[in-house]
Amino acid sequence: MPDDNVPSYLLDTDEAGRTVMARNDEGWCAAIDPYHLRCTIYSQRPAICRQFDMGGDDCRLVRQEYRRQQHDLSTLFPSFHP
Ligand code: SF4
Repeated sequence: MPDDNVPSYLLDTDEAGRTVMARNDEGWCAAIDPYHLRCTIYSQRPAICRQFDMGGDDCRLVRQEYRRQQHDLSTLFPSFHP
């Protein structure tokens, strides 16, 4: 969004040419602290993050997809424990 002030090293461009948050090797937002699952730019997080409804429909869909992926990995690799 025009008023976002995210550090440029955390930005990427998607297939449609839009500026988006970069992702790390595991697909998480590049701004996340993977050890504590906290936003490292919380005070500078983009507007879309500020508007995201925790526990809302989109949140539940993302969590559902994450659980499905974890289940698939556990099925493919029985020794995998998330
Ligand atoms: S709040 Fe936004 S910028 Fe921060 S880690 Fe989550 S997705 Fe990334």
